[in-house]
Amino acid sequence: MDFRVEPGRRVGVLGGTFDPVHNGHLVLAAAARDGFALDLVVFIPAAQPPHKQGEPVSSFSHRATMLELALADQSAMVVSRMERQRLGPSYSIDTLRELRQNLPAACDLFFIIGSDAFAEITTWKNYQELFRYADFLVAERPDLAPGRLAHLLGDLPGFTPPAVESSPGLAVDPDLRPWRHRLGGLVYPCSVNAVPVSATNIRARARRGQSLADLVPAPVAAYIEQNGLYR
Ligand code: ATP
Repeated sequence: MDFRVEPGRRVGVLGGTFDPVHNGHLVLAAAARDGFALDLVVFIPAAQPPHKQGEPVSSFSHRATMLELALADQSAMVVSRMERQRLGPSYSIDTLRELRQNLPAACDLFFIIGSDAFAEITTWKNYQELFRYADFLVAERPDLAPGRLAHLLGDLPGFTPPAVESSPGLAVDPDLRPWRHRLGGLVYPCSVNAVPVSATNIRARARRGQSLADLVPAPVAAYIEQNGLYR
């Protein structure tokens, strides 16, 4: 493990291809950190993204370096290169297991994920097991209207909806309460001021020589330019 965490800390994990990291990822991480009192958000680039096999992906080194540039002035956000050590496709279940084995037992782990990725979670390796190791913070990307998460979860096996409030004085917006998986994990909606940007869109803009200002941090835009990425 290439980062350290003190016992009792609340740690968010944001996995992805990050080809390249963009402002949508940063806003997502900041919303999770601030909304759920996380002490640290660890960005974990996939060495071999399982869902992108056969597609061209920039080298791990370029993607991790861009993450370092993007996170340099963010508080409580770091990059981990832990997935580079493993052979074969980078499955989240293996990463979560490794994190659980190496972090202090008293740490709370939160897997941060966009609603687009969460909607496909049944295609992930051993996806039910993920909920044994971490709670989930699901950010609503523009495709997911408030309350849509409940419909998504209602269609998955193993989840129990939040209990109906018995005392009206304590009522919490039902859309914000967590669902519980039978293996223990809670799934919370995480509200984010969505930034309508994707890495696909950024690569297309770079290919056309268009500006990336306001879509990625300036040092990342400069790195893409200097290294001729996505041309
Ligand atoms: P691509 O367009 O290449 O598929 P991407 O922009 O979706 O990439 P990933 O690296 O695949 O980026 O995403 C990592 C995680 O960040 C996923 O959980 C994804 O849902 C989330 N995410 C990506 N873009 C945004 C955004 N604009 N707002 C909120 N979450 C996002």
